[in-house]
Amino acid sequence: MPLRVSQFQVPVEEPEDGLPEQVAEALGLTPGDLLHWRVVRKALDVRDKQNLRFVYTLEIETTAEAAEHAQQWVELTGSPLVVAVRSEPPFCMPPPGSQPLGSRPVVVGSGPAGLVCAYFLALHGYAPLVLERGAPVQERIRHVRAFDAGGPLHPESNYLFGEGGAGTFSDGKLTCRNFGPDALRVLELLAECKGQQPGKPNILYYHRPHLGSNRLPAVVKALRQRIERLGGEVRFYTRVEDLHFDSGGIRGLSTSSGYLPAQVVVLAIGHSARDTFRMLARRGVPLSPKPFQFGVRVEHPQELVNAVQYGPRQDYYVQKLGNADYSLIVNDSRWPLYSFCMCAGGYIIPSVSAPGYFCTNGMSLSRRDSPYANSGLVTTLPVSAFGGSTALAGVELQERYEARAFELGGGADYRCPAQLARDFLQQRRSARLPSSSYPRGLTSAELREVLPPLVITALEKGLRVMDRYWRGRFLPEALLVGPEARGSSPLRIDRDPQTRQSPGVPGLYPVGEGAGYAGGIVSAAVDGLRTARAIIATYAPLQVPA
Ligand code: FAD
Repeated sequence: MPLRVSQFQVPVEEPEDGLPEQVAEALGLTPGDLLHWRVVRKALDVRDKQNLRFVYTLEIETTAEAAEHAQQWVELTGSPLVVAVRSEPPFCMPPPGSQPLGSRPVVVGSGPAGLVCAYFLALHGYAPLVLERGAPVQERIRHVRAFDAGGPLHPESNYLFGEGGAGTFSDGKLTCRNFGPDALRVLELLAECKGQQPGKPNILYYHRPHLGSNRLPAVVKALRQRIERLGGEVRFYTRVEDLHFDSGGIRGLSTSSGYLPAQVVVLAIGHSARDTFRMLARRGVPLSPKPFQFGVRVEHPQELVNAVQYGPRQDYYVQKLGNADYSLIVNDSRWPLYSFCMCAGGYIIPSVSAPGYFCTNGMSLSRRDSPYANSGLVTTLPVSAFGGSTALAGVELQERYEARAFELGGGADYRCPAQLARDFLQQRRSARLPSSSYPRGLTSAELREVLPPLVITALEKGLRVMDRYWRGRFLPEALLVGPEARGSSPLRIDRDPQTRQSPGVPGLYPVGEGAGYAGGIVSAAVDGLRTARAIIATYAPLQVPA
């Protein structure tokens, strides 16, 4: 009988191999009663600074009799453990459909959504063709490094475009809200592509699983090679520039390398392909504006974050657990503010993909060992704050503020507009700025010029509340940079919830973050997987499945 056991607390010093004995004892069982066990989640509880603890959720398999005994034991002993019979369906893919495919399915974009969709299509015999506007990952790394060192922006190969999408230079945190079988299958796939070492299965269950920007390129490349081995093909430097369809559905694509016939097109273009969004709008593909996150990025010395989170035993805990992260939420119903994509021991980066615009994001290496901690501080902008109601109104708003930030940062110098948080609150430019992890240098600016009014109010209120949470230690050393304008997509490419196809354009499947159905690596990948499932259920494969 499968059981889910949550709230199982263990001091951080305890080695993980002792878990089966400890769990069995806590449930009034013997280790032999556990036929199978698996960690589903592992979170760090930092509330008691003298005694940090890991809090586990586990799945165990035991006999019906032992399961009943464990549930009674927990009740009788007043244990804080929560024990429930697990009822999640297992991961499955449908049998292939019967509709014939005239040509291979085309996946546009090789971010997490596109790659994972293509992988499952390839695995089931659909030989997908992936079109990616940017460079293969090794070449892309060279372009990004040259940019960080002060070189020009490559418009097709940068932090957002190229093999692996925005996911490649992301922080590589693999968090997701829904831990169902599809998310687990995605994490397993990433773990396999990472070449997970035996005894180190942590990305499968750690509460905040993290790969780091240095490990992601190898994962992305391994995933692409799997797709190719399974009969798929990936073409780089191939930008989709137009869609051809009629009432019967998709007929083909114009690309930077010529025309391609197509019957099934998965659009996994991410949230920064503004030229492609505009093409879709021109073509009359149904789009709607949607709320998205907007704010700034805050940077502190990592030592300060360690002191706040780990308390007086910080040196001991840093050695044991690495640099500390944090998560802060100000739950104001009108002006909420929350931390987003927190990068412990990380770097602020220029999250840009087109000349003339500037915005920030953050990343860290797997060691998380830079002397800085950064995090987005964002609020959700409602459509009513866009200053227009067309599908592209949110994109236009992003462009207005990002263009001003580009000017403030010296244009093609890509310096980062920055202001001390205290100066921001007092509406004055900072006379002196601290050192920072941002590679191309800071420029003192009034950040209000690059933020919508609603974001300014959320920051004015929320920064003071966050300072109270940290007992006066949040504000004094906080450096704000920005704008942080691309946390999520400002529009949705509409789709039918059942068929996952664009209404009125049969054969067009919008997926992932850019289409407005995901926010992060794992959720984008899960969205890609589910669309692969819908395509498999509809169409007959092109070749014998692997
Ligand atoms: P993307 O990854 O954006 O991929 C879209 C792809 O489509 C790109 O490769 C692009 O080149 C290609 N493309 C676009 N238009 C065309 C076209 N017309 N023709 C052909 N190809 C096209 N998420 C997390 O979960 N954890 C993190 O730690 C994290 N950190 C981040 C840090 C940074 C710096 C950034 C920028 C993002 C971060 N994210 C993080 C967000 C995460 O990267 C995205 O949510 C995820 O990559 C979205 O996946 P996607 O496949 O939908 O789109």
